[in-house]
Amino acid sequence: CGIVGYVGPRDSQAILLAGLSRLEYRGYDSAGIAVIDGDGGLGMRKKAGKLSVLRDDLAAHPLADGKTGIGHTRWATHGGPTDANAHPHLADDDDLALIHNGIIENFSALRARLIDEGYSFRSETDTEVAAVLLGHEYRHNGGDLVQAFRSAVAQLEGAFTLLAMHEEHPGLVVGARRNSPLVIGLGDGENFLASDVAAFVEHTRHALAIGQDEIVAITPEGVEVTDFSGGPVEVEPFEVLWDA
Ligand code: GLU
Repeated sequence: CGIVGYVGPRDSQAILLAGLSRLEYRGYDSAGIAVIDGDGGLGMRKKAGKLSVLRDDLAAHPLADGKTGIGHTRWATHGGPTDANAHPHLADDDDLALIHNGIIENFSALRARLIDEGYSFRSETDTEVAAVLLGHEYRHNGGDLVQAFRSAVAQLEGAFTLLAMHEEHPGLVVGARRNSPLVIGLGDGENFLASDVAAFVEHTRHALAIGQDEIVAITPEGVEVTDFSGGPVEVEPFEVLWDA
């Protein structure tokens, strides 16, 4: 029930965990993060239970540093609260990580189609279907993650905030939203995505609202927002005024 993404010069793990803890008030049953760096590959850890379970596990078995990362707290709708059903979900030979808040209504038809095409699944979630579909579209769109998002979201029904990143594109996090919240936090040489400004307000108060049915790509240097078909959109800047 909470989402946070980071790109910038700092190690993302502490930023993601702090962001998730600021979203804890929304309730959740599992938590997870994934990070990538230029040479380190993609690392992922996810756990059923409180954020402290994830935090303790990371302390005991650290992930390699990663300056690009995504973090998630889950409120299970499809599949019980287990480690396997927690997010992120991986695809494209575990090079792509995806997190999701919401419900993919047509997941079972999509899942059947993807199984027919030879894909397999490791969880009971609707979300893993979006991850595998995005990985499939990534391969069919020449490794263009934004274009893969456009192809994937056109096939999804329901409510979703999605964030994903790919090992082949360190320094890039892509997101999309429909009937579910997502905001951009603009930093200095770093940028954030989150389901709620609370996740990044300790780092920046400069924010951009993302409209319904829009896709956003963030890098340390900038952000780009388009509609689901790739057309440009007006983004609305605002300042977060309340105290962190
Ligand atoms: N429907 C997804 C799941 O059950 C996401 C739930 C959420 O919004 O956290 O895994």
